[in-house]
Amino acid sequence: MPQERRTLTVTWQDAEGTGLNRLTVRLRWLQIGAGAVLAALLGTVVLGAVAQRLQRESAALYTRQRAVESERNQLARQLDEAQAEMEQARDSLVQVRTEEAKIRSWLGLEASPREELPPVPPGEDIAGGKGSLGDEGLEAVSPGARSAEAEEPSGLPSDLGLVAASRSLAADLADLAVYVEKQKEGWDAIPAISPVDGEHWVSSAFGWRASPFTGAREFHNGLDMAGRKGTPVVAAANGRVDQVFDDSALGQGLSIDHGNGIRTIYGHLEKVLVRSGERLSRGEPVGLMGSTGSRSTGPHLHYAVKVDGQYVNPRNYLLDRTQPGTAVARK
Ligand SMILES: [Zn+2]
Repeated sequence: MPQERRTLTVTWQDAEGTGLNRLTVRLRWLQIGAGAVLAALLGTVVLGAVAQRLQRESAALYTRQRAVESERNQLARQLDEAQAEMEQARDSLVQVRTEEAKIRSWLGLEASPREELPPVPPGEDIAGGKGSLGDEGLEAVSPGARSAEAEEPSGLPSDLGLVAASRSLAADLADLAVYVEKQKEGWDAIPAISPVDGEHWVSSAFGWRASPFTGAREFHNGLDMAGRKGTPVVAAANGRVDQVFDDSALGQGLSIDHGNGIRTIYGHLEKVLVRSGERLSRGEPVGLMGSTGSRSTGPHLHYAVKVDGQYVNPRNYLLDRTQPGTAVARK
């Protein structure tokens, strides 16, 4: 059945009212026209929405980009600061290393083989970068790269990193501290101070003399230090009380074992203040000056120093500031 051609006819009078105008439009065209208008309207709405959304998204992207840029600038600043700090740390390390070398030379120690801190080649930062956050810079400061470099055997100066250099310095200083500690222990066990803590004078020196009792030549194996009765007598060095005695000739007294074969003896005391076996520090009171024993003519301390069983001149051990040139004897 052939499709009926439906039409829409509009008639109207013209302005002068003289004739009748007529417009006949096929209904089909009218439908198509309406559809096109609708489609255009719809299109406008959809496109507007899409455009709006795109605008929103691009604004968000812009904000994000700004944030990333700011973050990147901040990181670059932090890297610069870190590098400046590294430079300072390196300078301090060089200074400490110099001081360490000085102390070693004072102590007569050989210089550490790890002495030299490698110089930084010009144009290369400690961190390995140039303050740039580019791929190269980031790669250069990656932890893996640094530790691999640090573990490499030395030889190439720039290969020794700051961390490795400071570790080596710390190890050297620890060695030095152990050495100095041992030296100090040895030093503290040397009878270097006067055993009389108070006013006194040497009434009889070490060596051959005429006996104050018989007038005959005799060997005086110590130093007689005279003073007021009751003047404190102190340990001349760190040690352990070896023996407390009451001898017919030396009277009341004691001996102290300082280790390394060194022993000090204190005689004619009025009173002994320590017990056998007691540990003593240098300068600790051990008794009071007196005149006990048969070989005493007045209040004085008979002070003797024995090294490996032999009496030595106590003067050689005394650090006497009133006598320039008196050195502490070494074994
Ligand atoms: Zn004496």
